[in-house]
Amino acid sequence: MKQRVNEAVVIEMCTKLLEEVGVDEAPVDLRLLGSMLGVSSIAEVDIPEAGKLIPKTDGNFAIFLNKADSQARKRFTTAHELGHLLVPGGVSGREIIDYEVGLFDKEKTIEFLCDVAAANLLMPTSLFDEFVKGKKFTLQTIVDISQKFNVSLEAAALQMVKRSPGKRAVVVWEHMHKPKEEVLLATPTFPGFEDCAPDKLLRVKYAFGLSRKEHIPKSKSLEESKNVILSAFEDQKKSIHKSRQVITFGPQLSIDCECEAIATIAGRVLSIIRR
Ligand SMILES: [Zn+2]
Repeated sequence: MKQRVNEAVVIEMCTKLLEEVGVDEAPVDLRLLGSMLGVSSIAEVDIPEAGKLIPKTDGNFAIFLNKADSQARKRFTTAHELGHLLVPGGVSGREIIDYEVGLFDKEKTIEFLCDVAAANLLMPTSLFDEFVKGKKFTLQTIVDISQKFNVSLEAAALQMVKRSPGKRAVVVWEHMHKPKEEVLLATPTFPGFEDCAPDKLLRVKYAFGLSRKEHIPKSKSLEESKNVILSAFEDQKKSIHKSRQVITFGPQLSIDCECEAIATIAGRVLSIIRR
C-alpha cells in the first residue's frame, strides 16, 4: 500500500538521509546533502524569487539562490529545494520557482512539506535535542540555536516551539498593509486613492503554537500602542525586549503571557510567547 506522505514521514526521510551521509555536527553541510540528491551546482544569482530548482539535461539539478538574501535565508532556501527532491511528488520535471519559502503554509501541501524537510535537514532532531537539552524557551536560546545551526531566528524559533507547542507560540509580525488594502493600492481604477492610502501597521505574518482554541489570525494588526513588539520594531540596535503583558488578537482572543521580541529583517519582528 502506498504510504501517505505527511510531516512525520518527511522527518523520517530527512533522518535517514542525514544518517546515510553521516552528518554528526552543526552547521549541516548542505552541498554534501545536495550531492547525494543529485544537485550538481548551487549558485547565487540576481533573481527576484527566493530560489529555483532546475532539472539539467544530464539528469542532475541546479539550485539558484537570491544573492541579496541573508546567509541564513539562503541556507533555508537551499534546504527547501533539497526538500523538493526528497518529498515524493516534490519535482515534476520542470523548473520549480519558489517566490518565498519558510511560510509553513499547510494549505500548500508540497511547499509545506518542503519547509518541514528544510527545517529538519538544517536542524537534525538528534543534534537539536542535544543542543537545547536543559535550555529554557527564551529568545537568547533561539539566538544560540540560530548561530549553532546557521539558520534564521524564525526557523530556530519555530523548531523550538514544535517541541512543545501547547503553552508556547512564535508570532512573526510585519509592517504592512492589509491584503485587501494591497489589492486596492495596486488597482489603477482608484485614482487618488494613493493620497489617502491607509498607513502600514504591524500585522501577524504568521503564527504557530498554543492550543487549537487560541488560533492567532494572520494579518491581524497589533492593537496595543505600547508593548514589547513595538519597542523591538523601533529598536535600531535589534536587542531583545521582554515583559509580561496582554496581547489582544481581536475580540475572541487575549493572551496574558511572557513575551520576548526582537527585530529581524527589515520591517519584521519575531516574538515568542510563553503562557
Ligand atoms: Zn518550493
